[in-house]
Amino acid sequence: MPFAHDAPKAGTYLPVLEEIAAEISAMPGRGRSADYIPALACVDPDRFGMAVADLDGGVCGVGEWRTPFSTQSITKVFALALVLAHESGALWEHVGREPSGNPFNSLVQLEYENGVPRNPFINAGALVVTDRLQTLTGDASADLLDFLRAESGNAEIGFDLEVAASEAAHGDRNAALAHFIASYGHIRQPVPPLLDHYFRQCSIEMNCADLALAGGFLARHGVRADGSRLLSRSEAKQVNAVMMTCGTYDAAGEFAYRVGLPGKSGVGGGIVAVVPGRCTVCVWSPGLDERGNSVAGVAALDRFTTLTGLSVF
Ligand code: GLU
Repeated sequence: MPFAHDAPKAGTYLPVLEEIAAEISAMPGRGRSADYIPALACVDPDRFGMAVADLDGGVCGVGEWRTPFSTQSITKVFALALVLAHESGALWEHVGREPSGNPFNSLVQLEYENGVPRNPFINAGALVVTDRLQTLTGDASADLLDFLRAESGNAEIGFDLEVAASEAAHGDRNAALAHFIASYGHIRQPVPPLLDHYFRQCSIEMNCADLALAGGFLARHGVRADGSRLLSRSEAKQVNAVMMTCGTYDAAGEFAYRVGLPGKSGVGGGIVAVVPGRCTVCVWSPGLDERGNSVAGVAALDRFTTLTGLSVF
C-alpha cells in the first residue's frame, strides 16, 4: 500500500485551522516583509492564510488561502524533486545535504568546500539543482511551472515577471555564487541564462491551496496527484529529510523543535510543511523573522502540530 487511504479528509482539518487563525490573530504583521527587492518590500506584512491538502486532493483553508504570493525559495523543493525524478542520486555528486549554518546566500563555505554547496536549499545549492534541471529538460523554469500547474490543478499559476526582473536587477550575489560554482565544474550551463531560469523559478506566484496540493506527492511518499509515481518512496523520504534539516534557512533546528515537520520556507512569507502519509500544510504571512522565516507562519504550524499531534516526532 503506497500510503494510508484512510487518512482524514481535508475538511476534517477546518476547525483546527479556524482555532489557529483565532489564536494567532495578533501575530500577522510582526516581523518585516523581505526588502532585498522592491517588489517584495511593498507587500503588507499583515496578511495571513493557511491551507491543508489531504492525500486525495481535497483542500480547505482559512484567511487569505486563495491569495497568490511570491513562492521564492519554496520552489527549490519542487526543482529538487524533478531533478531526482530524472537522474536519482547523480545530483548528490554536485551538492551536499547537510545544514550550512550560514545565511541562504552565503559565499563563504563554497571555497573551502571546493565549490560543492552544502545543500540544495541554500541559493548556491539551488543554482546547482536548476543547472541540472536545465541540462535534463532544456527549459528548467517551464518544466517546473508545468509540474506545479499539474499538481495543483491550477493552470493560472505563472511567473511574476516584475519580481523576476527585480531579482535579476539585484542579482549580483547569485551571479557570483553561480560563476564560482561553475569554476569548480559543478555548474555546466552558461551562467546568464541559468540565472534567468533561477529568477523566474523564484518569481512563481501561488496561493496556499496551490502549494499544499503541489506538495502532496511528498505526503504520498512520491506519488503524484494523478497516481503516477514521481519519486521512489526512498527518494521522497530523502527530500523530506533534507527539508527537515535544511528547509528553513539557518533556523531548521528551531523549526524542528517548534513544528517537528519537514518544511520549506521562502522570503515571500510562505512555508510548506509535510505530514508524511497524512496531509500537506501551507501557511503564508509575509512578516519575516531575522532568519527569513514567516513569524506568524511558524507560530501557526507550531499550533497545528501541537493541536493535532501530527508532528513526525
Ligand atoms: N530569490 C531569492 C534569492 O535567490 C530567494 C530568496 C528565498 O526565498 O530564500 O535571493
